[in-house]
Amino acid sequence: MPLDTVLSACPHDCPSTCALEVERLSSDRVGKVRGGRHNPYTAGVICAKVARYADRVHHPDRLTQPLFRVGDKGVGRAAFRPIGWEEALDLLAERFVQAAQRHGPEAVFPYFYAGTMGLVQRDGIQRLRHVMGYSRQLSTICVGLSDAGWIAGAGVKRGLDGREIADADLVVMWGGNPVNTQVNVMTQIARARKERGAKLVVVDPYRTGTAEQADLHLMLRPGTDGALAAAVMHVLFRDGYADRAYMTRYTDVPEELERHLAARTPDWAAAITGLSSEEIVRFAQLYGATKRSFLRLGYGFTRSRNGAANMHAASCLPAVTGAWQHPGGGALYSNTGLYPIDRSLIEGLDRLDRTVRRMDQSRLGPILTGDKRDLGEGPPVTAMLIQNTNPMMVCPEHMKVREGFSRPDLFLAVHEQFMTETAAMADLVLPATTFLEHDDFYIAGGHTFLQVARKAIEPVGQARSNHDLLCALARRLGADHRGFEMTAWQLIEATFNASGLPDPASVYEQGGHDCAQDFETRHFLNGFAHPDGKFRFKPDWSEIGPCHERMPALPDHMAVIDEAEPERPFRLVTAPARSFLNSTFTETSASREREGRPTALVHPQDCARLGITEGDLVRISNRRGSVLVHARPFPGLQPGVLVVEGIWPNAAFVGGVGINALTSADAGFPAGGAVFHDTAVALARA
Ligand code: SF4
Repeated sequence: MPLDTVLSACPHDCPSTCALEVERLSSDRVGKVRGGRHNPYTAGVICAKVARYADRVHHPDRLTQPLFRVGDKGVGRAAFRPIGWEEALDLLAERFVQAAQRHGPEAVFPYFYAGTMGLVQRDGIQRLRHVMGYSRQLSTICVGLSDAGWIAGAGVKRGLDGREIADADLVVMWGGNPVNTQVNVMTQIARARKERGAKLVVVDPYRTGTAEQADLHLMLRPGTDGALAAAVMHVLFRDGYADRAYMTRYTDVPEELERHLAARTPDWAAAITGLSSEEIVRFAQLYGATKRSFLRLGYGFTRSRNGAANMHAASCLPAVTGAWQHPGGGALYSNTGLYPIDRSLIEGLDRLDRTVRRMDQSRLGPILTGDKRDLGEGPPVTAMLIQNTNPMMVCPEHMKVREGFSRPDLFLAVHEQFMTETAAMADLVLPATTFLEHDDFYIAGGHTFLQVARKAIEPVGQARSNHDLLCALARRLGADHRGFEMTAWQLIEATFNASGLPDPASVYEQGGHDCAQDFETRHFLNGFAHPDGKFRFKPDWSEIGPCHERMPALPDHMAVIDEAEPERPFRLVTAPARSFLNSTFTETSASREREGRPTALVHPQDCARLGITEGDLVRISNRRGSVLVHARPFPGLQPGVLVVEGIWPNAAFVGGVGINALTSADAGFPAGGAVFHDTAVALARA
């Protein structure tokens, strides 16, 4: 029998940020995890990954004590011996001090990302960085491209309420696969279909689980979404679906847009996207004829050198039809911009020095291998603390990441829950709590609830929270900031107070605080977030990012992708698998077994041409690397396109080299961002 049931929130890098009900079996053991029924977006439904969370928390492979490496890098647990926390923290501080003394503080590069989305535990490392003057991190790996594209048009990172999907007559899922990654979107779509007979259109380069459920699937070539969006708008103008009165009031240059689109015909887009003109016209007419059209924009289609241009082009659609004026009409990319959070205390923004070197996290491989484009005139990186991310698996140009972490002059400390491939490269591995073992609070991209989660059980073994580790390290480094004198809960209270939010205890008791805006605001009927209140068909890209010269002035196909060519005739997409969440959940064998093995989906025509049959080992390669996977003939993509779902550990691949050996660390335009689905490769039987 459970002791009780506590409310919590899913900390993972998933826009659903589900409300949770967690059975507490004892002070140190959790039982079942269920979807929170009190939250109307979660509505009691969560994904299978998190429903099994007790297996993860209490898994025998959890790290439970600090470890010091005494053997070779990359070997794993056998190469480490246990040490005490005090000794470990002393060593970490000593190595940071040595690095700073030798090369200056910019030689230290604290590195983090979204293994937890709790603002206290995820972002506190920024406070240490700012107080100590360590190298800054440009956080691009997920949202660098998508944010740039959305904000270029709308001016702010918010949009429709996710619950409004249920009010729509047409849902367009563009560049996302919520069946694998965001189960709650499917719940809302199911409601819209049942209650309103809504249609579902999916735009995706391959037939995903979501696309299988669609009324229309536009299976375009990767990186050509801007062409599709431009041609759809061409038809909207041509066939009388453009709302000119709306555009006059709410948009910047509708006449110039119409002139520009005159040449972006369905035939023009068909040649670029690989879709038929008929498919494009059919979608455009369905979209144009449906006032309540909910455009749900995902991240996938932005992970391309032209991803920001693609996002902007797609986001223009409801500004042409005026769908924003209707219930369930408009678009949602993410709502994280609507929460009024004052982040200064958590991130130590009072100590931010913008003259300190800032490096792009997506370019960790080049950074660690000494690329001057990243290091500038500054020192090499010789000491790192990594929290909440696993760059050995998730970073592009994996071979450089591996080479960098192999450097004998780099001191690497990794604070983790499991012995990840990054932890295995570390000198010092420190055991971290899961979200059920510490306090934190969460905002969401897919809904509008601010949630507070309290520690449900005592930390497993000697695990410590990110915040506790940072406070202990700060004391040793002499990093003086009041945030290091507070508990996580005190930080939450002070942040809520500074942000004008209700007190966190009551937010916790009520299961969250709904920050939803009124209809006019979330539909931008009070104006978009630019000084003149108008949506930008013609953004000022120079305001968005430094590499803006090549951005298209108006929505278009931006021809900067890694095009297929005779030596590399395939375009590779590295989409998310259902049982993994980025690299999380790959640590346990049960998750890996559910996914099977790394597999390349290959069009049957390509299989026939190359003599590939089901289960054959194939080599995918380009100048950055070479990867072996098993092939599966799959008709749900265009010839010349490959899909390898993941992210699998490198060790799961024959030969031990994973998919990110092929992806590029080139920064997407105009403000950076990882280009995971923009890779030309060769394919052959191994
Ligand atoms: S759907 Fe996303 S937010 Fe919800 S439980 Fe699963 S990973 Fe967490």
